[in-house]
Amino acid sequence: MNYIVKPCTYDYNTNKSIIEELISEYPFINAELCGRTALGRGIFSLNIGNPDNSVIYAAAFHGSEWLTSLVLLLFTERLCRSIKEGRLLCGVDMKRALTQLGVTIIPCVNPDGVEIAVHGKKSAKNLSAFVGSIPCEDYRKWNANAMGVDINHNFNAGWHTLRQMEEENGIHSPSSRQYGGAYPESEAETKALTRLCRIKQFRQCMALHSQGEELYWQYGEKTSAQSDMMAKILADSCSYQLIKNSGLASHGGFKDWFIDEFHRPGFTLEIGKGENPLPPSELYEIYSKIEEALTLFSLM
Ligand SMILES: [Zn+2]
Repeated sequence: MNYIVKPCTYDYNTNKSIIEELISEYPFINAELCGRTALGRGIFSLNIGNPDNSVIYAAAFHGSEWLTSLVLLLFTERLCRSIKEGRLLCGVDMKRALTQLGVTIIPCVNPDGVEIAVHGKKSAKNLSAFVGSIPCEDYRKWNANAMGVDINHNFNAGWHTLRQMEEENGIHSPSSRQYGGAYPESEAETKALTRLCRIKQFRQCMALHSQGEELYWQYGEKTSAQSDMMAKILADSCSYQLIKNSGLASHGGFKDWFIDEFHRPGFTLEIGKGENPLPPSELYEIYSKIEEALTLFSLM
């Protein structure tokens, strides 16, 4: 099979050119601009099917985890091809399913962070001196945005508790990772996502991170009753491990906020195994292991 989405080092321009190619091949994709980063880069969503009954997938909250973007773009391509050619995806007639249901896919939540992780501090344009002032031994491991805020610590779910934990771990100011910002939803990327969720009222969310082959599904007492079963089905379908939140990953994340705000199911999938950034050569292998989980999620 010849795919538009191929193993490559991914960056902002790759994202834009893949999206353009997908739209030209599959004109039923409705692409929208959800927001812009501090450096003016666009955060795009790809919408397919019924927009009034949709789930959301989002990737690349963390700069070094850009392979998650390619995974979501490949899912978009496989889904669209199955619709266009009238084939089943994981045994499901998605063309028929998506007359009732919809999917919203945000391949890259943190394009500035991805640029820094792939191209270094110079890609932070007018913020490059600021980014350069933040201690970072290896920019390939950069996770924050260009303001030195970790998007997945910036959501309004136990934010003050998390800030306390960050302080106890020696994180007091903008950092390459794990600094939650001056206040919840301070960042353009966080605002873009929460605004979209409040407008579209998605049934459930799935955030892609790397790595560990793990699935997280809980956030305190707000975790919805049906999500235990959903988590088990999703984890079983890809042989990932179900994990309970702990430590610095226990508050402030997108799925935490989504569960807390809407009392609906939210999941974090930690794709692949190894060290970030995961090598692009593993794209197809990682993807094929989770394709069924991504497909099932849209139907739940
Ligand atoms: Zn992450």
